[in-house]
Amino acid sequence: MQSSHRTLSKKSPPAASTAASVQPNSRAGRAGGAHHGAGASTDVGGGVGTEVASALAGAKVQSLPRSSGLRMLAVHAHPDDESSKGAAMMAAYAAAGAQVMVATATGGEQGDLLNPAAGEILQTHRDLPGVRRMEMAEAAAALNISHVWLGFADSGLPEGDPTPPLPFGSFATLPLEQATAPLVRLVRRFKPHVILSYDEVGGYPHPDHIMSHKITVEAYRDAGDPTRYQGLGEAWEPQKLYYDRAFNPGRFEAIHKALLEAGHKSPYEDRLLRFRDGSIPWMTEHEVTTQIPVGTFLEHRDRALRAHRTQVEPDGFFFATPNDFLREVWPYDDYVLVDSRVKTELPEYDLFSGLR
Ligand SMILES: [Zn+2]
Repeated sequence: MQSSHRTLSKKSPPAASTAASVQPNSRAGRAGGAHHGAGASTDVGGGVGTEVASALAGAKVQSLPRSSGLRMLAVHAHPDDESSKGAAMMAAYAAAGAQVMVATATGGEQGDLLNPAAGEILQTHRDLPGVRRMEMAEAAAALNISHVWLGFADSGLPEGDPTPPLPFGSFATLPLEQATAPLVRLVRRFKPHVILSYDEVGGYPHPDHIMSHKITVEAYRDAGDPTRYQGLGEAWEPQKLYYDRAFNPGRFEAIHKALLEAGHKSPYEDRLLRFRDGSIPWMTEHEVTTQIPVGTFLEHRDRALRAHRTQVEPDGFFFATPNDFLREVWPYDDYVLVDSRVKTELPEYDLFSGLR
């Protein structure tokens, strides 16, 4: 176990997680550099990654402590991202008494219809953004959390060679301060103790995901500074910043192995091969520092995901492994603690650890 009091210097974004988890020449290091220039990493000593990983592997933490009076804000790019990344965690904290809020940067206007069955609904063709707002409301209700829109326009995922320019005025094209201002206003109003978002490459390299990362880091750093973002409310300093590790390769390895051992087919073979041979260039290598027990909230996640019916096929990838199996093998949502203004011990089993 390591005691950690990570601090984010005034102008250095937490580009590279812990010194222990990212080697200077790793893909993650380069990816962080690409987005942040010379970002300083916080040094919590070598070898933490391995120690934390083995401590996590040995732990059997099943539930969260009461969390009344504590607030968490998760920043996402599009409606449905909150349901595929950390939904069970948020439902678990809501049930433990915390106030949980999701801020969605864009309306998902550039999204396609990804579930053919939902195409039978006429309104989907007439007004997909409107339908997605209703889906989002249903997902928030399923998780028992509150939700706000930051009000930006979806940038879309540019495809082709060369890739076409992003739509004029879309979220990812905006100057950082303009894109961050609504989030700073929200942070100062809601006063979260903990903020979560994606890593430097967005968890997956969609321009809006990368921009969500940037505004989250900026708001985490500056919302507590009364000389910055003036006129957007009284300064409030969030205490901890996390990145989501929903694509944690260790999780897929464990589930894959357990499925094969139980004589099932595994849907993760291809994905794991690509993790291993490095052909997913956007995979960062942040070590998981924090595992949240979510076993009893997996059905909440499923309901939230299925609420996004234009985006999620009801029997698709996200439902490939039965929940009872997940409860046995990996009943956690995984995170990396990137910065903390309070003292905490790694590994953690509670995002509010150090704040109670
Ligand atoms: Zn997205």
